[in-house]
Amino acid sequence: MTKKPSTADLPLPTPRVSTPEILASEIIERLTYRIGKDVIVAKPHDWLTATILVIRDRIIDRWMESTRGVYNSGAKRVYYLSLEFLIGRLMRDAMSNLQLVDAIRQALESLGVDLNVIAGLEPDAALGNGGLGRLAACFMESMATVDIPAYGYGIRYVHGLFRQQMADGWQVELPETWLAHGNPWEFERREASYEVGFGGAVETVNGPDDKPRYLWKPAERVIATAYDTPVVGWKAKRVNTLRLWSARPIDPILLDAFNAGDHIGALRESNKAESLTRVLYPADATPAGQELRLRQEFFFSSASLQDILRRHMQQYPDFTNLPDKVSIQLNDTHPAISIAELMRLLIDVHGFDFDPAWEITRKTFSYTNHTLLPEALESWPVPLIERMLPRHMQIVYAINAKALLEARKEKYFSDNEIRHISLIDESGDRRVRMGNLAFIGSHSINGVSALHTELMKETVFSDLHKLYPDRINNKTNGITPRRWLQQCNPGLTGLLREAIGDEFLDDAEKLTALDPFAEDAGFREKFAAVKRTNKVALANLVYERMGIRVDPSALFDIQIKRIHEYKRQLLNIIEAVALYDQIRSHPELDWVPRVKFFAGKAAPSYHNAKLIIKLANDVARVINNDPAVRGLLKVVFIPNYNVSLAEVMVPAADLSEQISTAGMEASGTGNMKFGLNGALTIGTLDGANVEMREHVGAENIIIFGLTADEVTRARAEGRNPRATIEGSRELSQALSAIASGVFSPDDRGRYSSLIDGIYNHDWFMVAADFDSYARAQREVDALWIDQPTWYTKAVLNTARMGWFSSDRTIRQYAQDIWRA
Ligand SMILES: *Cc1c(COP(=O)(O)O)cnc(C)c1O
Repeated sequence: MTKKPSTADLPLPTPRVSTPEILASEIIERLTYRIGKDVIVAKPHDWLTATILVIRDRIIDRWMESTRGVYNSGAKRVYYLSLEFLIGRLMRDAMSNLQLVDAIRQALESLGVDLNVIAGLEPDAALGNGGLGRLAACFMESMATVDIPAYGYGIRYVHGLFRQQMADGWQVELPETWLAHGNPWEFERREASYEVGFGGAVETVNGPDDKPRYLWKPAERVIATAYDTPVVGWKAKRVNTLRLWSARPIDPILLDAFNAGDHIGALRESNKAESLTRVLYPADATPAGQELRLRQEFFFSSASLQDILRRHMQQYPDFTNLPDKVSIQLNDTHPAISIAELMRLLIDVHGFDFDPAWEITRKTFSYTNHTLLPEALESWPVPLIERMLPRHMQIVYAINAKALLEARKEKYFSDNEIRHISLIDESGDRRVRMGNLAFIGSHSINGVSALHTELMKETVFSDLHKLYPDRINNKTNGITPRRWLQQCNPGLTGLLREAIGDEFLDDAEKLTALDPFAEDAGFREKFAAVKRTNKVALANLVYERMGIRVDPSALFDIQIKRIHEYKRQLLNIIEAVALYDQIRSHPELDWVPRVKFFAGKAAPSYHNAKLIIKLANDVARVINNDPAVRGLLKVVFIPNYNVSLAEVMVPAADLSEQISTAGMEASGTGNMKFGLNGALTIGTLDGANVEMREHVGAENIIIFGLTADEVTRARAEGRNPRATIEGSRELSQALSAIASGVFSPDDRGRYSSLIDGIYNHDWFMVAADFDSYARAQREVDALWIDQPTWYTKAVLNTARMGWFSSDRTIRQYAQDIWRA
């Protein structure tokens, strides 16, 4: 008789060896047996896939160990639920974190393949819109790096964020097809499939002890199937899992209909199910408000919750210890319906009473808020939820009754306060407030910068904060220094290693050792040389893609982010117009040569944002072609901003534009990427800029404009923008030029509505901040002329930005919120 070995004893495969020779032979092996191609006919894409498969094997070795480790230790698991993961490419990240870059490069060289060429073919996984999705991707990498057993859960969109093309300066959206050549990183897990229901009705039956039991009988069901992508941490200490759900029908084809000749009707169910996970909603910071979006949110929430409970039950006898073994972080309110879903599963499926289920739920969930804009707070019409999720609606009412009773009876809240706390917004058509649901159903609610967290307490959640004063806390965002320094800026990384050794690679806060080098002229020159190389690379990209020549010795001024009125690309463009005017009026002055770069996508339905893109292109055409400018100013809008483009632009920036209307940017993470790579920031006291100033020192950042408090006051007073504009000659001339059609001779009225908005209400404080901004830009010019001082500040930015590593952010989440 053989004894059944315990799981801890079952063998793991022998880890792979990674010499260039072995890697080369494995690449040939994959090419032959997995892709079915002879070396002599292999296309670059085949080499890419074969190379990824070889790298993937090295990841799998560590993955199995990590997964088995949690099982054996009984450690707490963290689940990060996010409707978006803006990942970008994975190959360089994986190679670098496995420390295999040189070995793979040599292996490919021996096969006559250039690593850079095939790396450039990998599509960006763009399953997100902007900062919120990129944060989720940075967090996944940092959770693996700081050794937290974590799972990311999201949706495997067939089409990620649209590809942006320019047609005569207008944004055109094209479908994005990242899966066209397959996805060698993922594993389809047919066995990890769950049913997710929609619609139908709730039946009440008598349960044990004559207590009523509720049975949800959905009218419609789809299957959620998991696709797993391993996420490697730095030095492959740990590998975690990103699990993305794909929808498929229960019946792929309705054979009765098909046989009766209804060939289209036979596929209706199938099409409907698959359309659920077909596309990412391209709106950023504004709720899509459409039924399909709510279906997506519930679909991935329900599948994730079922998966989490199944994994728990494999290991533990029941759910009473769920909060000790599971933390679920909600990335914004998109997965907030999970709170009602966990309640439903605990009560209806696993037989819990309401109160103990509520206790478990609240202790398990925590919620990250990403925006204060009232129009951006998610809410759904009560009739829609009643129809799509009737049982969840009942649970929401029950949660609400409990919370309101507590507020009224124990805390003596007023009717007005009660109205703000309620899960149901009763002003107008009745709606379920997802932010309030997420708040009430969580033990921790965090903001993403110090300023944002304070404003959260004072504005959107002031009454809920009064009811639960110990729940709101701050976790300032961060970025992973692997992608945003080591991988995107190998030149700077090499220089830093030479100067201060390798410690900063393991701990970005060790970059402070660089501080004294800011005063070292020899070091500054090397730092400037690296910057120049990166600027040449960007200049080449611009020439290849757009046929525009830019001078790498000019000041590279960069604003890249989603196009949004609150981010104020318009302020930047108006300043460019004013500067253009000045350069032409004062040819005798020594203007600092400058290239203003823009990139970013606008939500397809956001009219003003699209008009701002067209304006940037119109202004660029006029300025770039005016000989009177003598090349001193260029404006370049690079199409199709994504993670890979950011990886080229960030290291090439001298000046980072972080100029949102104060109080409106929750944190920003683009600001951190630039500072880490030695750009100076011109910015408002908004989001994490405030903390960046504290870390890099006020003398090393250029701050301008109204503060958040001043913006609030200005809005309350209803100041007259017209007076402000008329008080500024530069501004009024620039606005008149744009409004009168100087940049749009083909359609002189194109920008009149945009400019009227500034004259009439100036909600985003473009006029109010213009003079302060223009003055700050001339300070930048003066600084640039003094190159030693400029580079002293640039070096100090790199030296002091280590705190903004997402490793630090994740450690704070782990310590204060997850207790993992
Ligand atoms: C970092 C990043 C963002 C966020 O930029 P912000 O300036 O913080 O808005 C958006 N998109 C991409 C592709 C990014 O890499």
